[in-house]
Amino acid sequence: MKVLFASSEIYPYSKSGGLGDVAHSLPLALKEQCRIISITPLYRFIDRKKFRLNSPGTVCTMSIAGKSYTYELFRSEESDTLFVYNDVLCESEALYGYDNDALRFGLFSHIIADVARKMKVDIVHLNDWHTALAALLLKDDRVKTVFTIHNLAYQGIFDKKVLKKLAIDKKYFTMEGLEFYGKANFMKAGIAYSDKITTVSPTYAKEILTEAYGCGLDGFLKKHKKKLKGILNGIDTTFFNPQRDSTIYVNFDAAHIENKVKNKKEYYKKLGIKKREKPLFVFIGRLVEQKGISIIIDLLKDLSMEPLELVMLGEGEQETEKKLSILSGKYENIHYIKGYDEALSHRLYAAADFLLMPSLFEPCGLNQMIAAHYGAVPLVHSTGGLKDSVFEGKKKCIQGLVFDPFSKKECLAAIHRALTLYRDKKAYIKISTYDMQCDVSFNKSAKAYMKIYEALL
Ligand code: ADP
Repeated sequence: MKVLFASSEIYPYSKSGGLGDVAHSLPLALKEQCRIISITPLYRFIDRKKFRLNSPGTVCTMSIAGKSYTYELFRSEESDTLFVYNDVLCESEALYGYDNDALRFGLFSHIIADVARKMKVDIVHLNDWHTALAALLLKDDRVKTVFTIHNLAYQGIFDKKVLKKLAIDKKYFTMEGLEFYGKANFMKAGIAYSDKITTVSPTYAKEILTEAYGCGLDGFLKKHKKKLKGILNGIDTTFFNPQRDSTIYVNFDAAHIENKVKNKKEYYKKLGIKKREKPLFVFIGRLVEQKGISIIIDLLKDLSMEPLELVMLGEGEQETEKKLSILSGKYENIHYIKGYDEALSHRLYAAADFLLMPSLFEPCGLNQMIAAHYGAVPLVHSTGGLKDSVFEGKKKCIQGLVFDPFSKKECLAAIHRALTLYRDKKAYIKISTYDMQCDVSFNKSAKAYMKIYEALL
C-alpha cells in the first residue's frame, strides 16, 4: 500500500503548532506498516542546505483554468518527504496569514492531486483546510482520500472568486459542497468529498457535532457522520525524550527523577529566583481564546499571592501579549516570555512541576503529552483530547488535575489541589514518575489509521 501524506507544515522543516508535530510523528509511526511519503511546501525560510534539498528539483507544470503553473519537486531521502516549491505558495516570510492564502493552498492542493496521480498512490491523507481541496480534485480518481480535522476553528473561508482561478466548477458552490454563507469554505471540501474523515480525539469527534463546538459546521458534519472517527494523537517519544534531549540542562528518566529537579534549579537560577522549593507551573502555547488565555489573565492576581512560579511562553493576539507583559512586570512570581522557541519549550517542560492547560476547547492537544513525558503533571480543562488523555485520581492514562466546568473558580480550585499534592512530596513524585512512563507514543493510534487505510482499499 502506497500512502501520500499531505500537510502544510511538518516539523522540523516548518511548524506553527500541533499540526507540524503530528505531520512529523504519525508518518514515522506508520512507516513500519506501509509505504508512506509525506508532501509539504518548501517555504523560502526552510534551510535547503541543512536538509540537503539541493537544486535543481524535478520541474513539473500544470494547467489550471487556462493558466500554466510550474512547481519544483525535491526529495529528502532522510525523511521520505517530498517538498514542493512554487513561488506563489512558498515565497512568504511565515506560514499563513496572507491575502493570497486561498490561492497559495489551492495551488498546493492541485499539486498534491497531480503528484498523487503521477505516483499512483493508493491513499492520500489530507490534513486541515490547507490541503482539503485535493479531496474534491481527486474525487473521481481511483485513489482514496482520508481527511483529518486538526482544528475545526480554522476552516479556510475565502471570497468565492478564487474558485474560478482554481478551476473549481460552479456546480460545487452549493450548500452540499463548498458554499458557506456566500463564501468558499475549503474545509467543507475535505468533509464532503473525502472517503473518510478523522479528527484527533474521540471526544472532539463527538463535540464537533454539537452547536457549541461545531463552528457553524455541526449540521454539515452530522450529514457525514458515518465517515467520521476520532483517533487520539500521540507524540514522537524519540524526539521528545528527556533521556536524550540535548536542549535541556540535565537529562533524566523516571528512575532518576532527582535529575529532573536539577533542570528546575538551573532555570530558577537563570530567572534569578531564590526560593527554589516553590513549584513551577508553565504555560506553553498560542495566545488565543482557545487556550483559555482569558482565564489565565483573570487568575494572575490570585496566583501572585500563591506559593508558586508561573512561566508563560507564547505569542499571539497583540492585546494579550501586551497584557501579559504588563502583568508579569507587576507580579514577581509571574513571568512572560514572548515568542516561539522550540528549545526553550523543551527546557520548560523539563523544569516544570505542572503544566497549566486550561483550554476552552482542545481538539487533542500535545502539550499535556509532552509535559507528562517530561514528568510535569498536567492541569487541564476537561474538553476534547484533554478529556481523553488526562485523568484525576485514576490510573487510566496520564494522571493530572482536571477541572470542569470552564471557569476561573474551578481552575483556581484545581491549582489549589495541585499545590496540596505538591506539598506531599511522595505522592507528587509517584504521579510525576507514573506520567513519565505512560504510553503517549503514536504506536496505538498509527494502528487505528492503518485499519482505516486498509478498509478503504
Ligand atoms: P495547537 O493548537 O497550537 O496546535 P497543540 O497542543 O496541538 O496546540 O500543539 C502545540 C505544539 O506547539 C507543542 O509542540 C508545543 O510545545 C508547541 N508550542 C506552542 N507554542 C509554542 C511556543 N511559543 N514556543 C515553542 N513551542 C510552542
